[in-house]
Amino acid sequence: METKVFRGLVVKATGSWYNVRVENIQEIFQCRIRGNFRLQGIKATNPVTVGDWVKFQLLAEENAGVITEIEDRRNYIIRKSVNLSKRTHVLAANIDQAVLVISLSNPRTSTGFIDRFLVNAESYHIKTLLVFNKMDLFEGTIKKQYDEIRSIYEKIGYSCIAVSALEGTNCNELKMLLQNKVNMLVGHSGAGKSALINQIDPSLNLKTGSISNWSGKGTHTTTFSEIFPLSFGGDIIDTPGIKEFGMVDLQKEEISRYFPEMFRFLHDCRFNNCTHEHEPACAVKKALEHGEISEIRYQNYLNILHGEEMDTEEWENR
Ligand code: GDP
Ligand code: ZN
Repeated sequence: METKVFRGLVVKATGSWYNVRVENIQEIFQCRIRGNFRLQGIKATNPVTVGDWVKFQLLAEENAGVITEIEDRRNYIIRKSVNLSKRTHVLAANIDQAVLVISLSNPRTSTGFIDRFLVNAESYHIKTLLVFNKMDLFEGTIKKQYDEIRSIYEKIGYSCIAVSALEGTNCNELKMLLQNKVNMLVGHSGAGKSALINQIDPSLNLKTGSISNWSGKGTHTTTFSEIFPLSFGGDIIDTPGIKEFGMVDLQKEEISRYFPEMFRFLHDCRFNNCTHEHEPACAVKKALEHGEISEIRYQNYLNILHGEEMDTEEWENR
């Protein structure tokens, strides 16, 4: 008898079994991998992860699918292994976009937090959509700050949208930006991630419980990642291990590569390992003086360079 091969998306992975959602029919099959299965070139503790596209066969005698092939990944995020094996744990793969939920008040997301996240996402080749939530509170100084912050990020190429999860403002526009994509929703606690999910897809809220808070601080968690379908098309990927996504281990001279507005000047610095802090003939500092790079972004860059906590409240000090 001929065995049929299916193609599907890994929506949950526990290490011993995998839930694979078959394309088109949307049905989920439990699969295993063969004991000797190895993914070429990746030294990971888990060869298959959430977000992977795989091929599998259904074996009647095992009452389960067997994964026979993993398709190449467009991107993936990792958590470093705690033991000394130097192997990494792949948290998720093939993320279309990170959706960073920002709250400018009650509580406040600092630009330092935003930039630290963006550097990580850039280093993983993941696009980020900036969602300014709680726009019902944009008045007076908060409104002015919002206008200024949004224009900084839009100028350097990040897509931005302002919404109110509370009142539903712009939530249909947000849905369109999430539709038919694998979205990773992140933001610190209190930014409004649950409220947003509840507003755009109430049925999902029960399943995700509380979606990951990205803190950039390292506490360990062993919970598994999972992908949840959006009722209007597309997916939300929940990776509890996202806390360890920050900070990626970067060499000092590497950090500026992940600031898109600095990247284009890097070749003009005199030294190719320039950190753009005190070196002579630095093209980045020249661009800063000419107003081509924002002071806030540059200050956040220096904080990352020095490994400092990012909650400097630049607005209060002006
Ligand atoms: P999470 O920790 O990111 O999941 O944040 P929650 O969704 O739990 O929201 C944190 C708090 O912010 C709750 O008290 C929400 O009611 C409030 N909140 C969320 N979205 C909005 C919004 O658009 N406007 C206002 N004013 N409050 C909001
Ligand atoms: Zn330089």
